[in-house]
Amino acid sequence: MAKKKHHSTKPLDKLLRVPDGPVRLADHDSAATPGYPGKGKQDAPALTAALVPELSDLQERLYANSKFDAEAPNVLLILQGLDTAGKGGVIRHAIGLVDPQGVKIHAFKTPSAEERKHHYLWRVRKALPERGIIGIFDRSQYEDVLVVRVDSLVGEDVWSQRYAEINEFEAELAAAGTKIIKCMLHVSQDEQAKRLEARLLDRTKHWKYNPSDLDTRAKWPAYQEAYEAALTLCNTAAAPWHIVPSDRKWYRNWAVAELLREALASLNLEWPKATYDVSAELERLRGM
Ligand code: AMP
Ligand code: MG
Repeated sequence: MAKKKHHSTKPLDKLLRVPDGPVRLADHDSAATPGYPGKGKQDAPALTAALVPELSDLQERLYANSKFDAEAPNVLLILQGLDTAGKGGVIRHAIGLVDPQGVKIHAFKTPSAEERKHHYLWRVRKALPERGIIGIFDRSQYEDVLVVRVDSLVGEDVWSQRYAEINEFEAELAAAGTKIIKCMLHVSQDEQAKRLEARLLDRTKHWKYNPSDLDTRAKWPAYQEAYEAALTLCNTAAAPWHIVPSDRKWYRNWAVAELLREALASLNLEWPKATYDVSAELERLRGM
């Protein structure tokens, strides 16, 4: 598909892709707007809306392929980020552009008693999208090397093994036809304070706030370190990481929609060939 005015100025997949080597989040400006084709916030609604026809076409091709091809691909978008980074906002504003019938959203919470009886990837495997579907993970297997590491819910001997295990798991998914897009929604400490305060100052936002959010915020350096380890150690060709600057919500939402569009376009999906005789069916119909 030819580049359009509402597409990123350069492939966003390249601009936001985490380079090989150690990641330092402090080197990534959380208020930047790489690849944004507009002037600022005022252009964002139109630019984001302009992605809808292509997203719809691509999503329908993805779904259509799964009807006739047992090996058709699927897509898995993994959203990670600290409280207030905007995982919910992205799902509403970017994923909400796509036909909900083609999307499967799963939010990972504190593991249930049942989930705790199993390997940490058990619940992740259960939540994977079927062929033809765009799966969205709101949190993911990465919680098992983030909150679990920061809060020492298992020993270092255990969590330190998980990076390689996650890489293996993701490579296995990719080999089976899943296009994996991993996004870390990157917010600054100041922006998080503003967003938490906004929640406390607005009674219609109190439900979004949890007093434990401040306990998590108090562990900011430990979380940055844990994120840096996950971004460094699990940035593979099969499942690359992207850091999405998320201090500006309008950029964040456009960027994730555009990353999704690019990922779908990269699958080069044709409309599937009918598995029945089209002209025979036409004749049969017209003879009725
Ligand atoms: P929220 O996304 O705001 O609804 O919060 C979900 C909570 O579940 C967060 O506090 C996560 O840290 C927590 N959580 C998710 N996965 C895990 C996990 N594997 N182990 C412990 N806590 C988790
Ligand atoms: Mg929360």
